Amino acid sequence: MAIKKTTKKRKVSKKKSMNSEYKGFMGDLIEEIAGKPGRDVFDILLSKSNVNEFLIAKKLDLTINQTRNILYRLSDNRIVSFTRKKDKRKGWYTYFWSLNIVKTLEFAEKKILEHLKRLNNIKKSRESRRFYRCQLCVLEVSEETALMNNFTCTECGSVYELSESANLISDVESKIKSFHEELKVVEESLVNERKKIGKRINAKNSREKVKKKKLRKERAVKRAAERKKDGTGVKKVAKKKVKKASKKVAKKKTTKKAIVKKVAKKRK
Ligand SMILES: [Zn+2]
Repeated sequence: MAIKKTTKKRKVSKKKSMNSEYKGFMGDLIEEIAGKPGRDVFDILLSKSNVNEFLIAKKLDLTINQTRNILYRLSDNRIVSFTRKKDKRKGWYTYFWSLNIVKTLEFAEKKILEHLKRLNNIKKSRESRRFYRCQLCVLEVSEETALMNNFTCTECGSVYELSESANLISDVESKIKSFHEELKVVEESLVNERKKIGKRINAKNSREKVKKKKLRKERAVKRAAERKKDGTGVKKVAKKKVKKASKKVAKKKTTKKAIVKKVAKKRK
């Protein structure tokens, strides 16, 4: 199987769109599903397409199996995709990996929304409910549990104290704010990337349209030239004219006959 050729133009646009503004942040999200090495693989694919998996393994000092495990985890989320090439001599396939920009952004969007949902739930519950903690065990329980345990820690017997939620709430709020900012950047980039793809498809379609039109015109010219050469075109037209004329005469004759018949009928 042939390796898909990636044009230079596309590589440049990929680099530009994945700017440093959210590169680190994206790395955090990728680390959640593929660990720290996943982040390193992401960084490599960010600057280059169609990277040999053996090269990735060598660069990150990982075994090929470790490298593939990471790549499979990323490809489960459609962040990366591969093309493969058969080694004719050895008979095995080598895989070449690329980052899928739109899917990466979609993955980030999904992850951010999940985080926001979780954080908003924490905020809501902290604002509406009370929590108690054992200072000694650094253990926190809900008000219901504290009530059930008579406000005494089941581990050490100390009396529970009311948890202070104010700091936690402001912490959660600042996290929510920064996730919202990241979401905005990701969504804007998604719009731009999708537009770019749309433009590429449109350009390709119009190129094909022009090509087809040209081909049709060429064929028409060729046919006309052939007709002129062997005279079939002229003959055909002449035949058509004769046929039409004879049809007209026949029609006239029948109408004449009909009139004679009609008159004869009336006379009877
Ligand atoms: Zn305790």
